[in-house]
Amino acid sequence: MFSKILIANRGEIALRVLRACREMGIRSVAVHSTADADAMHVRLADEAVCIGPPSARDSYLNVAAILSAATITGAEAIHPGYGFLSENADFAETVEAHGLAFIGPTAEHIRTMGDKISAKTTMEALGVPLVPGSDGELLSIEEAYEVADRVGYPVLIKAAAGGGGRGMKVAQTREELPEAWSVARTESLAAFGNDAVYLEKYLDKPRHIELQIMGDTHGNVVHFGERDCSLQRRHQKLLEEAGSPALTAEERDAIGATATAALSKMGYRNAGTLEFLYQDGQFCFIEMNTRLQVEHPVTEMVCDVDLVREQIRIAAGEPLGYSQKDITFSGHAIECRINAEDPDTFIPSPGTITVYHPPGGLGVRIDSAVYAGYRVPPYYDSMIAKLIVHAPTRAAAIARMSRALDELVVEGVSTVVPLHRRILADPEFQKGDYTIHWLENFTARGK
Ligand code: ADP
Repeated sequence: MFSKILIANRGEIALRVLRACREMGIRSVAVHSTADADAMHVRLADEAVCIGPPSARDSYLNVAAILSAATITGAEAIHPGYGFLSENADFAETVEAHGLAFIGPTAEHIRTMGDKISAKTTMEALGVPLVPGSDGELLSIEEAYEVADRVGYPVLIKAAAGGGGRGMKVAQTREELPEAWSVARTESLAAFGNDAVYLEKYLDKPRHIELQIMGDTHGNVVHFGERDCSLQRRHQKLLEEAGSPALTAEERDAIGATATAALSKMGYRNAGTLEFLYQDGQFCFIEMNTRLQVEHPVTEMVCDVDLVREQIRIAAGEPLGYSQKDITFSGHAIECRINAEDPDTFIPSPGTITVYHPPGGLGVRIDSAVYAGYRVPPYYDSMIAKLIVHAPTRAAAIARMSRALDELVVEGVSTVVPLHRRILADPEFQKGDYTIHWLENFTARGK
């Protein structure tokens, strides 16, 4: 096992990794920008190294500075968290070229899945069902018309290099296709430096259901069930659940078997998430994330597993030590992302948190790195906490989350807590009756 790990991230996820290290008796090295000198991950780590100025490009994305920090502190492995360098294949390769372990999949698998077109082609060849659409990249608008006529409108033009909901445009009709085509390409070029696009049928009432996978370096691959992440705004997740209110145990077993067989054929190692759209009983693969997800805690609660610990064990070469039949699901978990944003306009609300009181009690978990007096910097993402609850049933989890949200006190910045309260009180949400479009309609209705 490693004796020291460098955590190439900040905020709650840096703390999350640090906690696993501490419990495993592994020393931790925090890296931070000058804006984060007072951050909790810096205070709680065994060692900390400043890697640059506030701008992420010069600090949390600064590969040379991060590798130097690992070298001077004698770290043996790097955990990238999520975001920043977590899905950067060149980074994973460079880390390994320096003789360090990258706590994640191989650079080759990160690269294959980082391009959504090659991800889809790979998954299709491994027997995973896809959303109907183009066979890879569209080279001309004529080709786009042809595929759209075949699959039927509405359609979605998507960036091969897409992420965070960017580079994605809907064409409701044939007339709207040219604009969707050019906007998606322009946006993609600007955001990702690549204008390759593909086309998918735009599903009208899908749920976003994803599967948590874990593979070791000895050929074992298991899944830890699904998360329902349908509650999204601008294609960004806001509230997640495990399990999905829409899925039966048989459906979970079936898609789990398909997914683990595919990843086992690939020789996939470490954590990964297969994202699907689920409509009319059908799963359609949309993309794979080759890292730990923001919403991983809901899986941890229902499976009673520490996914970061598993990632570290696997990176150190240990076998999983259990098989699919040993993984059981207990109760229901919900996560609310607490973003420092205006609950109506979603405009970020950086500033100083003057009062902070996290909720507690049975079945309540809060993953956060903020405290009273903490200044939410304007440079990074606006999520300040993840509130997670676990209870025997979904109804009890909703009641527990409502209670926990009432206890949470955050003053000094606006948060999306009022929106979460309204969602939890809504009868449709309580019935589990929602799709990926539900939240946008809900906020538009101004309920
Ligand atoms: P990103 O990598 O930018 O997050 P994804 O491909 O994961 O992009 O899609 C993000 C979200 O966009 C999905 O969770 C879903 O809500 C919506 N979406 C993606 N593809 C489709 C589709 N074919 N039909 C309807 N909605 C879609």
